[in-house]
This record gives sequence, C-alpha cells and structure tokens, in this order.
Amino acid sequence: MKSETVEYSPNEPFAVSLVGDKPSPPRVFGSPARYVQGAGVIDHAGHYLSRLGFTHCAVLLSARSLQAEGGRLMESLAGAGIPAQTAIFNGECSLQEIDSHLAVLRELPNPVDGLVAVGGGKVVDAGRAIAHRLRVPLAVVPSLASNDAPCAAVSVIYTPEGVTADAEIYDENPRLVLVDTGVVAQADERYLVAGMGDAMATWYEASACARTPGGVNVFGGRPTLAGTALAELCARTIYEDGASALEAVRHSRVSEPLERVVEANTLLSGLGYESGGLSVAHGVAQGYTVIERVHRHYLHGEMVAMGVLAQLMLESSTDEAQKAAGFFASVGLPVHLAQLSLSAEDQDELQAVVEATLAFPFIGNMPDEVTAENLLAALLAADRLGRNVVQQARR
Ligand SMILES: [Zn+2]
Repeated sequence: MKSETVEYSPNEPFAVSLVGDKPSPPRVFGSPARYVQGAGVIDHAGHYLSRLGFTHCAVLLSARSLQAEGGRLMESLAGAGIPAQTAIFNGECSLQEIDSHLAVLRELPNPVDGLVAVGGGKVVDAGRAIAHRLRVPLAVVPSLASNDAPCAAVSVIYTPEGVTADAEIYDENPRLVLVDTGVVAQADERYLVAGMGDAMATWYEASACARTPGGVNVFGGRPTLAGTALAELCARTIYEDGASALEAVRHSRVSEPLERVVEANTLLSGLGYESGGLSVAHGVAQGYTVIERVHRHYLHGEMVAMGVLAQLMLESSTDEAQKAAGFFASVGLPVHLAQLSLSAEDQDELQAVVEATLAFPFIGNMPDEVTAENLLAALLAADRLGRNVVQQARR
C-alpha cells in the first residue's frame, strides 16, 4: 500500500513572527474546545459528542479496551443514536498503522464525521494523525492520566518496531477531551505517578520559557499569561495533592485530590506545556530515550522527572531541586541515574544523552546558553542530589 500523502506541514510553526528590527512572535494560546472530567462520564459520551456535532463516528481502541471502558463508550453512542465504526488499534502509532485504518475508513459508504480515540498515549496519537488526514474532529478519551498528551495537537510517530521516528504538530487540538476518573482510578498506580512527573516539569519549563526573551511555545508564539499561570497551578496542585491522589489510586477509589491531580496531569499539564513552552526537562527526557533499555522500560513521565532535576541544577535552583526530588522520591519517581538503569560512570551513554538533549527543538527556551559541558555537569549534579535525597529518606 502506498504511504499517506495528505499535504500538511507538521513541523511548520503556527505563529507568524512580525518582522521588524527584531523578529517578534505574537502571543499564542491553544486548547481543546471542551474538557469534561468525572467518575462515570464515559457513560455520557454519546451526549457530549452529539452536542458537539458528531453524527457518525469511527472509534479507535484496542481489543482489550473494547471489552472494558471502550465497550461502555460504544453503548453510550448507541443510546444517543450515533452509529459507530470500531477500528482496532494494533499497538504501535506508526504510519503503517495509520494508513491501514485510513484505507478502511475512506471506503465506508457513509463517511464518518468524527473520530474518537480511547486508550493510552499511542492510541490517542494515532487517532490524532488519522483524524487530521480524514479532516474530521477528534475526541480523546484517555484511560490513563500518565502523560500530558490528551489535550495537545502533537503526535509522536514510531516505526513499526517502536522506535521514535517523528513528531507531527497539527493546527487543531481535540474538539473534546473526556476523562473518566473512575477508569483512571482502576489503572496501576505507576501511571498516575508518571503523569505527575510529566506534569511537574510543566511549570519549570514554562517559567524558563517566559523568562527567556525570544522563548517560544509549541505554536511558535510567545506564551500568554494564561499559559504560564496554568503551568504554575499545575505544579502547585501536584505538590499539594499528589500524595493523597496516589493513596486513592492504590485503593482504586476516586477522591477530590485524585480529581485535582488528574486535571493537573491532563488539562493543566497539556495546556501548560503546549502554550507555556517546553525547555530542558523534556529535552533531557528525549535524551534518555536514545538509550534503548531506558526507552523500553521507563515511562515518559519517569524520564521527564529526571529531566526536571537536571534543569533545576542547570539553573542553580538547588533548593527547588531538593524540593522536587523529595516529592518525586516520596511518590516513587526516579531521582538518580541508577533508578533509570544508568550510571554516572558510563561516559559514552551520558554523552549520547547530552547530544540528543541538545538536539531538542526547544532547548533554546532557557535564559542562559545550554552547552554540552554545563548540561553534563547538571545531569551529574542532579544524580548526586537524588542519591542524597534517597539516603536521607532511609535514615
Ligand atoms: Zn511530557
């Protein structure tokens, strides 16, 4: 089958800089049109989708999900009189997977006017890519609160073997993000914890981007006050409610702190990173993915947590790094290299991480220049700080 050739510019920034003596990007803020969160909301998916103009949907989900939360969503669509075509996701967000669904959906006698993606990060990313190519709105129904992806307009594309190949940045955010906290509370606690690591980075990165003249967000624009404020609220919520939310998930229970942390991990983190701006923490997380065993065994948010500590040490914000590491260690996020199966002694691997970090497109969103030398020193300083925090906790 021929590969998909729809015209778009996945890496072309949305914002157009005003020309003059100095290029000055406009302020840009983006978001989903609607965000709905609560225990049991998946049973009302049909209501929300029909209100937003979905009359005939494709539903992308795994075979497992179809037997669980996805099945509940299908029932709700049927109840609302919305015919739905299921598309079973086979595990990898690759161009091959995307094309195979497009081939089927384009042959339908009655074309769909919306796509619903139900599940984890890769299903959501594949759904975004398919909806974009079909030119229909997307609804995202995440089954985990493990990362900042559901609300965003970015998909990470992998090879069929699972190696990161590309990122596509679209001009549309989802029409609807629907988060059932009852579903999220059933998942393994590791996912919520990883989501907290990912979300904690949002504030430190957005703050660096806002302070950097010329710093730009994912849209290529300057952050708005709104974007930066949401990022700040995100970190504050996780520091305040993270421990209680984790306790709730350990008992598969929905509580107010869990509701707040799910919102921080999903809405505040998604808007905060996309509109507030990324910088070193996500760069370091991308850097760690070049080490195969790290990429395979650790979640995005776990690598981002380590990136937060490196960024704070790079900024010489030792007190803040101490605070973040104390929190991370208390909820079970990694705080030193050995906890990511890495070693401070392995210079070759650390050099590879540094190189990949410097290639991150938003690494320039820092007030001071990031170099191979100061970045390596920051990774090592973060490792020492993390080991101290773990030792102190043992005493
Ligand atoms: Zn992230």
